[in-house]
Amino acid sequence: MSSPPLARTTGPVSAVLLSAGLLLSGCSSQPASAPTAPATSTPVAGETVGSGSPSPPATAEALDGLTIAVDPGHNGRNSRNPSEINRKVPDGRGGTKACNTTGTATAGDYPEHAFTFDVAERARELLEGAGAEVVMSRADDDGVGPCVDERGQFAGEAGADALVSIHANGTADTSARGFHVIVVDDAVHADVEEPSRAIAEQMVKAFEDAEFDPNPAYGRDGVVARTDIAGLNHAEVPAVMIECGEMRNRDEAALMESEEGRQRYAEAIVAGLEAHFAEQ
Ligand SMILES: [Zn+2]
Repeated sequence: MSSPPLARTTGPVSAVLLSAGLLLSGCSSQPASAPTAPATSTPVAGETVGSGSPSPPATAEALDGLTIAVDPGHNGRNSRNPSEINRKVPDGRGGTKACNTTGTATAGDYPEHAFTFDVAERARELLEGAGAEVVMSRADDDGVGPCVDERGQFAGEAGADALVSIHANGTADTSARGFHVIVVDDAVHADVEEPSRAIAEQMVKAFEDAEFDPNPAYGRDGVVARTDIAGLNHAEVPAVMIECGEMRNRDEAALMESEEGRQRYAEAIVAGLEAHFAEQ
């Protein structure tokens, strides 16, 4: 999760969620740049399909032979190991940041770490089926960490062509809904900035094609550039962080809690990667 909508928190909801210890422990504790006003130009689903210059069809061949790094956010035992999770690690910009956080959860207590790991496993199967090699930041959902610096670095160490970090957001306002994609702003590894944004834009299209709507609180195009996401700061390969939806929203929670919903998220992620690499 990331946190700008905290400012829109309402009293009673805030009290309940804060007491659950979830809201302040998301994947990124620093707010993004101020959310824009609700978009006046929210894309209509399917509106961009077929418009503009023709782009080559995304095909499975686009991923054949590539290495894709997949980072399912958080981990299953983070909440039981606060000292390990709260220890400071390099944030990629000369400062420090907590190793990791517990993430958020649905009102039914379906945790973000379980959601992200399941979607990652589904994405891995699809990617491997398309001929890609997949490296994961964690092998199961029963551990602690890894820390945010490692979650960025492992992609470069594996020689990956791209890094996809999978999360879900935990805005307290339960009416908030939709996905957004985060990319690094003012990247330390400057050469990744442009391709990261290119992947993000294809990811937005793929999510919209899969009938997911962007969250208008995070920029009208569904892409937000931030300097405070340590995993992205450390990434030496093109990288995006996808906040698939809002776990406190009843409808999106139901989707995330369902296998069918998680498969849809995984398929959208892979479709976004396919579309990007089909253009390379
Ligand atoms: Zn998260």
